[in-house]
Amino acid sequence: MNNRTRYLILGAGIAGLTSGLELIKRDADVVIIEKNNYVGGLAQTVIREGFRFDLGGHRFHSNNPEVVGWLKNLLGEELITVNRSSRIYIGGKFVDYPLQIPGALGIFPMVEAFQMGVSYLRSVLAVNKGEDRSFEDWVVRRFGTKVYDAFFRTYTEKVWGIPCNELSADWAAMRIGIPNLWETFKHSILPYKDPPATAISKFYYPINGFGSIPNRIAEEFISGGGKIFTNTRLDRFVPRADEFVVSVKTGAGENLEFSVDHVISTIPLPVLLEAFPLELGSRNILKNNPLDYRSLICVLITARKAQFSPDNWTYFPEKESIFGRTHEPKNWSLQMTPDSKVTSLCAEIFTGPNEPTWFKSDDWLTQKTIQRLNEIGWLEKEELINNWVIRIPHAYPIYDLGYRDKVERIRHFLQQWKNLHLLGRTGAFKYMNSDGVIDLFHKSIVKFTFKVVNRCDQVETQSKTLTSITISFTQNPKHFQSSNHMFCQDASAG
Ligand SMILES: Cc1cc2nc3c(=O)[nH]c(=O)nc-3n(C[C@H](O)[C@H](O)[C@H](O)COP(=O)(O)OP(=O)(O)OC[C@H]3O[C@@H](n4cnc5c(N)ncnc54)[C@H](O)[C@@H]3O)c2cc1C
Repeated sequence: MNNRTRYLILGAGIAGLTSGLELIKRDADVVIIEKNNYVGGLAQTVIREGFRFDLGGHRFHSNNPEVVGWLKNLLGEELITVNRSSRIYIGGKFVDYPLQIPGALGIFPMVEAFQMGVSYLRSVLAVNKGEDRSFEDWVVRRFGTKVYDAFFRTYTEKVWGIPCNELSADWAAMRIGIPNLWETFKHSILPYKDPPATAISKFYYPINGFGSIPNRIAEEFISGGGKIFTNTRLDRFVPRADEFVVSVKTGAGENLEFSVDHVISTIPLPVLLEAFPLELGSRNILKNNPLDYRSLICVLITARKAQFSPDNWTYFPEKESIFGRTHEPKNWSLQMTPDSKVTSLCAEIFTGPNEPTWFKSDDWLTQKTIQRLNEIGWLEKEELINNWVIRIPHAYPIYDLGYRDKVERIRHFLQQWKNLHLLGRTGAFKYMNSDGVIDLFHKSIVKFTFKVVNRCDQVETQSKTLTSITISFTQNPKHFQSSNHMFCQDASAG
């Protein structure tokens, strides 16, 4: 008889895979269900004609030594340290980012730069500061209206697709990292002791692309006895008194059913809620608390030239560029291109699933991107080798003004099932980088481990009941074998 606690994990991104690996190490039975035919979710690396691309530049940084140690242990010598170089393109000029003050103000005429200083002082000296509700409140109070307008507003609105006064201040606090203009000035001269993630000067990167992280976790998970069903998606989610019955649909149209003790969901919250039986009311909860995710389109370009720019990544706030950010994989690791005479670029276009841009043809998106790269002097027509477009839904949980209450109400509804756990950036609707996802799981594992032990205790006293509900996760060897294909790195995102 198998007395192990049975976990089903929805989603094989970093959150799902990390959870799976750590649970397997603690002797649990774990199955992961993944809708794509590869693992990694947002953190995958795709390969096109020998060029490797992350879907948006992914650097690894954590101020928690345990998380860094965990990654070093996972990747060993494959983990390299990269010096950061990132800039923002403003008024036809590239400026270092994070901003260096006074350098960044130097691109503006003297009068404008002076006005920026004055508007900052005005915001610092304001008597009635009020509450930081929106992104706009947060930035204006710390940097002044003029700096906000010049450096923060347009890029943020491009990323999120909503005005900055409708975006929660939570995001500013998490992402800007630099407390105010004065600190920016100070740290332009004196480096940080413990820099926020946004201000780091070096970062970790897997030599063959960020996707090595999920791929390696998946390898260890499988060799530890875990199973991944790729090309399989959640269909129905039925909570019972002491277990969950989860039905999934494979790419081949088959239905599989799992009875498990715990479910860890890392898939988009609305997708989970829609899988509940109608009578439980989850759809009403969702209707009254709609959550939005921002989508991303990556235009991948390869070129017959040594380098586009010296940057790891570059921000493009201006309206003339359809993309908001680019990254050049070769500047992260030389292994990302097949040889030193060629290079590549990933241009990120932020959009919503219902916006016109999402529905534009690949050709249209590519032409717009190439045209702009040509205008800024990065790409001549004859240098272009090839191009591809990849669309990524659910890339960013949108922190609009009401998001906290909405997430809280949904969580409250789901908390009635204490063995249902929401994890990860997508599953917990929490804007986190991968280090945050890993860190959070390591904090939660204490809770999970307790439950594993708890059930083993139960086994001794209630073995009869448990025998009847023990299932074998290897019930469908055909699918288990097909999961090996997920390591094919030439994955195309759905
Ligand atoms: C453009 C961009 C840049 C980023 N840059 C960085 C960076 O520099 N550094 C960093 O550390 N992090 C970065 N991140 C964040 C990082 O990618 C995420 O924190 C991390 O990958 C989230 O992992 P996750 O497992 O929580 O979510 P996901 O990767 O979204 O995983 C969820 C998984 O669930 C699957 N799924 C969805 N629906 C279903 C269904 N119905 N049934 C079964 N499976 C389903 C999905 O296919 C996916 O594989 C960036 C993200 C983006 C979008």
